[in-house]
Amino acid sequence: MDDRLRAHLDFFGELGVDGMRREPEWRSRERSERPERSETVAFFASPAAALAEIRDDIGDCTRCKLHKLGRKQIVFGVGNPDADLMFVGEAPGADEDIQGEPFVGRAGQLLTKIIEAIGLKREDVYIANVIKCRPPQNRNPEQDEVDQCEPFLFRQIDRIKPKVIVALGKFAAQSLLRTNDPITRLRGREFKYRDAILMPTYHPAYLLRTPSAKREVWQDMKRVRDILNES
Ligand code: URA
Repeated sequence: MDDRLRAHLDFFGELGVDGMRREPEWRSRERSERPERSETVAFFASPAAALAEIRDDIGDCTRCKLHKLGRKQIVFGVGNPDADLMFVGEAPGADEDIQGEPFVGRAGQLLTKIIEAIGLKREDVYIANVIKCRPPQNRNPEQDEVDQCEPFLFRQIDRIKPKVIVALGKFAAQSLLRTNDPITRLRGREFKYRDAILMPTYHPAYLLRTPSAKREVWQDMKRVRDILNES
C-alpha cells in the first residue's frame, strides 16, 4: 500500500470508518443496490485496535499441538502498539505461561534492564515471541508449531511497524531470517526485514549463563539506539 493511500485510510480510520469495499461496482451504486456480501478490507484507527483484532483472531488457539501439551494461556505480546523498537524471543517459559506476558522471568528482568540501558522503558517497546504458547519442558518450538503461529507475529510486526526488531537468541534469529547460520555469525549484523532493520543479538537467558557476552549485547544495543535516534 503506498503512503498516500495509507494516509488516506488512516484519516478515515480516525474519523471512525472501519472498512472499505474493493469491488468497482461499489463506487457507483446507491446504497440500496450494493451487494449483500462483499469482501471487506479492514483498516484501523490505531495500531492498538489492529493488535486487538489479531488477538481476537488467535482466540483460544488449538491450531497446533501445544494447546494440549500443558500451556496455561496464550502469551500474545506486550508493550507500545506504536513502538519503534520491538524484541522477539523464542517462546514463553514457565513464568510467562503463568503471567500471560512475555519475558517476565529472570531473563525478562535482564531484558528490562537492557531496554533501560538505552534510555527507554519497557512500556516504550513491544515484546513478543516467535510462538505464543509454552512448549513442554521449555523444549525448542517445532516446525509445525512455528508454521502455525508465526503468521500472527508477522501481522503484529506489520501493524506495529517498528523501525528496529531485535531478535533475541539463536532460535528467533534463525527462524525470522530463515537461516541455519549460528547466532555468533548473525549477531552484530543488520538485516532488512519487513520494512524494519532486524538485529540479532544474544538471548538474555544466555547472558545469565555467560555474563561476559553482555559486552557484545551492549554494542548491539548502542547501534539500535543510534538507528532509533537517526530517524
Ligand atoms: N524466553 C523467551 O524466548 N521468551 C520469553 O517470553 C521468555 C523467555
